[in-house]
Amino acid sequence: MKKNKGIIRVRACHWFLLFAVTLLGLSMLFVRKDHSLPASESITPDQDNSRLIVIDPGHGGFDGGAVGVNGTIEKDVNLAISLKLRDMLTDAGFKVVMTRDTDTALSDTQDTTVRRRKISDMRNRLNLTNLYPGSVLISIHQNKLAGNSSVHGGQIFYSPNEPGSKELAGYIQAEFNTNIQPEKPREIVRTGKNLYLFYNAKNTAVLCECGFLSNPDEERLLCTDEYQYRIAYCIFGGLLEWYDGRNR
Ligand SMILES: [Zn+2]
Repeated sequence: MKKNKGIIRVRACHWFLLFAVTLLGLSMLFVRKDHSLPASESITPDQDNSRLIVIDPGHGGFDGGAVGVNGTIEKDVNLAISLKLRDMLTDAGFKVVMTRDTDTALSDTQDTTVRRRKISDMRNRLNLTNLYPGSVLISIHQNKLAGNSSVHGGQIFYSPNEPGSKELAGYIQAEFNTNIQPEKPREIVRTGKNLYLFYNAKNTAVLCECGFLSNPDEERLLCTDEYQYRIAYCIFGGLLEWYDGRNR
């Protein structure tokens, strides 16, 4: 009898374990993001992230971002430039984390409306950045100005939360002004509440609007490898200048 009771207890315990494991599996299913983790995300957060760069190719997946006058989708240009920048930085010995390295969004799978997906996408980008305190966030985007096809060139925006952001934006803007648009230099711009990621970022954080998809000439250039390398090199060069300035 005692033995039987023991078996019953063991079986009850077994069923409970099975139930718990099933519950855990279901809960993991619900919190799973609709993106596979980029390989670079496996880097372990550590104490010194001062030479760790989080590259954030804007948009992705369901969110294409701006559409150019000839149909270029912003998310694709953002990713192409970001991957080139990643390679430059890793070759130079920096640690790099990508928020995405394929055409995916970071939104939560349970979000069904576009609005909710955009909110969770931004929140997850911010959460990923916050995993690496002391790192540098560089977000890559393309601009668009409706009704004006002549405006062109890159402009750098900076987060108001950390003084280094403004300095870094200045260095990168200087590279753009020298190498991309000497005839029309631009000023850096502080971000407001409308840019969630940058308004809430704790780290050094800049947003690079690399060019205008509303300008057909610049749109065509932004789709070429050669120009994407030039843009990536401006960001890379500005970043190196900024590091040099901090070490002087
Ligand atoms: Zn964008």
